[in-house]
Amino acid sequence: MPESASAIWEPFGEADGEPVFSYRLTGTGGLQVEILNYGCIIRRMMVPDAQGQMRDVVLGFDHLEPYLMNPAYFGCIVGRCANRIACGRFTLDGQEYRLSQNDAPNHLHGGFRGFSRRVWHPVSLAPGKEPSVAFSYRSPDGEEGYPGTLSVIARFTVKKENALEITLRAVTSRPTIVNLTHHSYFNFKDGGISSILDHHIRIEADAFTPVGPTLIPTGDIFPVQRTPFDFRHLQPIGTRIGEADEQLQLAGGYDHNFVLRGQPGTLRRAATVVEPCSGIAMELFTTAPGLQFYTGNFLDGSLRGKQSTIYHKHAGFCLEPQHFPDSPNHPHFPPVVLRPGQEYRSQIIFKFAAKRPE
Ligand code: BGC
Repeated sequence: MPESASAIWEPFGEADGEPVFSYRLTGTGGLQVEILNYGCIIRRMMVPDAQGQMRDVVLGFDHLEPYLMNPAYFGCIVGRCANRIACGRFTLDGQEYRLSQNDAPNHLHGGFRGFSRRVWHPVSLAPGKEPSVAFSYRSPDGEEGYPGTLSVIARFTVKKENALEITLRAVTSRPTIVNLTHHSYFNFKDGGISSILDHHIRIEADAFTPVGPTLIPTGDIFPVQRTPFDFRHLQPIGTRIGEADEQLQLAGGYDHNFVLRGQPGTLRRAATVVEPCSGIAMELFTTAPGLQFYTGNFLDGSLRGKQSTIYHKHAGFCLEPQHFPDSPNHPHFPPVVLRPGQEYRSQIIFKFAAKRPE
């Protein structure tokens, strides 16, 4: 386990004719995170388990090439709007906009080339007790159909207590919509060789937003009570995933937005995950109003990842703090509109510990 924190970088290839680097942040508690300036992808997250052994807890690839398209969105920052927008349409200030329909008929994760498929510019690399790296991306007016030039900064900091903090900020030149998130697939047991169904999870939500056939929210806000979406107490992810529940069947598992308890904009705990074999536990804190819980339902064995691991269905889970999906088309969801003079801010903290389930 390292005694001192560090921040170093090394070349990792080239994309769009620009160099890509891998930035490695090591904290004093041992947590080590490697981030690319392509898509702000976290390609490795090394966490000590209950025996003190370091384990890589995120799915991904060994080389840059498969990250260039990255169909499952492993580890990246997703934007300009994470998740789905129905038929790629929304109206802002009386004007209708059409976004690319890259997940027909819907818009998904910012379009064909969202922020996850762009080279970002490294703006600072700070060693010190809590090492950090920051990247910027300038999304031009009209990119993937979005109005306004959006300037985004993503900062990754490894904190003393084995926590990774991600802060996302953005400003715009014209009124637009913004909903950024981070999209790691976690597997604390074996990095994705086997499924995550035995991981225990708790989600700090009393309600969720059910979806229709193309995974667009119906607009309803349903209580989780007496449904398979009740994760108010720590329990295995897989306990009810196979039930004949309409929502689970539509999504092939969990792929739903949970309405987080508490005041959006304030940092509060959103979820806790514990894996009994490794003893690794993670708490997630965020300022976002919602949390997309996705159990890797679309992983189908077609992606060969790190060390040739084949990622099968449920090989990883994502916890994506964000605004509710399709917010621009549901006026009663917390708004995602950003105007000139305002700043979009979102904070996500993944805090690791090694312990046995309670
Ligand atoms: C979405 C899934 C989607 C996946 C893409 C998740 O954030 O909720 O529906 O298939 O991203 O990898």
